[in-house]
Amino acid sequence: MAVCEVCFRHCDIKEGGTGACNARACVDGQIVCTNYGRITALALDPIEKKPLSRFFPGSKVLSVGSYGCNLFCPFCQNYDISRTDGSELEPENVITPEELSDIAFQFRDRGNIGLAFTYNEPLVSYEFVRDTAKLVKDKGMKNVLVTNGTAELTVLEEILPYIDAMNIDIKSMSEKTYSEILKGDLETTKTFIERAVKDCHVELTMLIVTDMNDSEDEMRELTEWISGLEGGSKIPLHISRFFPRYNMTDRPATNVDIIYRLADIAREKLEFVYTGNC
Ligand code: SF4
Repeated sequence: MAVCEVCFRHCDIKEGGTGACNARACVDGQIVCTNYGRITALALDPIEKKPLSRFFPGSKVLSVGSYGCNLFCPFCQNYDISRTDGSELEPENVITPEELSDIAFQFRDRGNIGLAFTYNEPLVSYEFVRDTAKLVKDKGMKNVLVTNGTAELTVLEEILPYIDAMNIDIKSMSEKTYSEILKGDLETTKTFIERAVKDCHVELTMLIVTDMNDSEDEMRELTEWISGLEGGSKIPLHISRFFPRYNMTDRPATNVDIIYRLADIAREKLEFVYTGNC
């Protein structure tokens, strides 16, 4: 038995068992990352799709995902890879950091600026992010991380030297929403963001879910908090529209007028506010 210290959950994992994220296990009394190099998706995406709007706009980034996530959002847009345990993948289908960084380099002539760790929660296998990002940086390219921001600061400190830009989800300003609906932890997320903005280009995303986080008061609370961070009003915020998916099909897609109204409210405090999925 061993305790995993990667995220706020601190899973106590029995010998041979797996943590809540499905990506870390206890083997011989040690916590190991079981999805290291096991990728589920690889695509050359516009950087705006991450979304990042103020980091090399117009460029492309090779985007890679594995499986596993430490949150349980019922509206997950990528549940087919975030919630699997990788058993459907061929065991021998593993890519090394060297191979992946070489592929990223080969895509330079197609407008690629580097590598984005995305699709599932990349930090449940932060060792793969760290090892690969080092090599990408050595090749003079950029690293992007798309994360839910619920890893512990020790993990963030290990990867920060190699990450050039992040998009971090902040899914609500309500601890109750985080703990009851997402099975997450708001305070860990806020602490992660507070640290990341000091040493990295950070853009934030809030998915506005009907009747969950779509009030004007919650948007005011969010933008008040962001404006007090290092970088403050210059931190870009992406406000995204929800569509019913996965285990949240009991409500309609977010009304577009609400998204635009919340964006107007956000602009009272922030300079760079973008709407998505509208
Ligand atoms: S990273 Fe996975 S195994 Fe580790 S504490 Fe978080 S959910 Fe549990």
